[in-house]
Amino acid sequence: MELAKRFSVQKPSGMVRVFQAIEKMQDVLNLSIGEPDFVTEPDIIEAGAKGAMEGFTHYPPLQGYLDVREAACAYWERHHGYKSSPDNVYISVGGLHIPWLAFSALLNPGDEVMLIEPYFTPYEAQIRGNGGVPVIIRTHEENNFTPTIEDLRAAATPRTRGIILNYPGNPSGRVASLKQLEEIAEFVEERDMFVLSDEIYESMIFNGGKHICFANIDGMKERTLLASGVSKSHCMTGWRLGYLFAPQNVINTMCVLSSFQTYGVNALSQKAAAYALNTQDEKVRERAEIFGERMKFVASRLNLMKGVKCHPAEGAFYLFPDISGTGLTSEEFTWQLLNTAKVAVVPGSAFGSTGEGYIRIACTQSMETLTESMEKMEEFCMRF
Ligand code: PMP
Repeated sequence: MELAKRFSVQKPSGMVRVFQAIEKMQDVLNLSIGEPDFVTEPDIIEAGAKGAMEGFTHYPPLQGYLDVREAACAYWERHHGYKSSPDNVYISVGGLHIPWLAFSALLNPGDEVMLIEPYFTPYEAQIRGNGGVPVIIRTHEENNFTPTIEDLRAAATPRTRGIILNYPGNPSGRVASLKQLEEIAEFVEERDMFVLSDEIYESMIFNGGKHICFANIDGMKERTLLASGVSKSHCMTGWRLGYLFAPQNVINTMCVLSSFQTYGVNALSQKAAAYALNTQDEKVRERAEIFGERMKFVASRLNLMKGVKCHPAEGAFYLFPDISGTGLTSEEFTWQLLNTAKVAVVPGSAFGSTGEGYIRIACTQSMETLTESMEKMEEFCMRF
């Protein structure tokens, strides 16, 4: 069947190709998965079931139920000092749908959105799919994979409308400093732009610091679409529930878009998420500690391997070691490691050209699996 031209050129990303290969293999040590290995806490599951028994089985409000919007506001105020109103919250089908809706709501054909490499792969297709043009901003590991104001000024054109930020970042696991974010804010103000700040990994910061909410920087709240969700913090990927804080006209437009796309979000997931956001702070902290321990362990093992250098864990659950010392490209390293040692990682080049020479390791497995994987990887690296 003939496909629409815009999709006929779509090929599976470097990440999807790894996932597809793993499906056909057995006994793979899988460090490519971007979701927590923990299952959702039983009391959260009960809250979803209780919602169903109480009759929340009908179409939900387009914007999301008030209780889950209130819970998102309370969570962000408690954890990050970010103040919002439930009127400014939109509940989405996972965090992934937010950039799509945001670009639908904000972009005119040909509008440019700055995309900082290495980036979460779907953003690019989400910009293009809504008529926008991604403007790639290359970065360097020495700067936490964060652009300077000069980098941004050099790439800006009269068509530049917005920029995507993602700290803690997928795939880099790096966190931008307040000074770096303030520079970006200065640039955003200078060019009168919007910011989509994807802060879905806000609960996982390991450098002893605190998460910096971009919208808390002076003058940024009105320009920022702050995206997050319960997938990572509350181990609820399968419930497909994300949320967005944004100015009122953006939220209103998203409700209109929802009215002809999804007609709201699964009511049970909303009831579970409202409960989760209100009651799980200790669990969220405990799990961040577990991820932190794993990341520390894996980074220290990687640094003992021939040809590999790994920056200490900063955030999210990803490490992004430099493997260029092995003489292999990201793809060569990934595929040879998978085929010979049965350890799956993602090539850094899947996240844009800045990622060449790196691989992404997700510490979303038990210590036992991580230890075995590191042993195999160490042996693999001895060959180079
Ligand atoms: N943003 C980033 C940076 C992510 O890594 C992910 C998930 N991998 C998402 C958004 C989407 O999350 P969700 O599962 O809630 O759709």
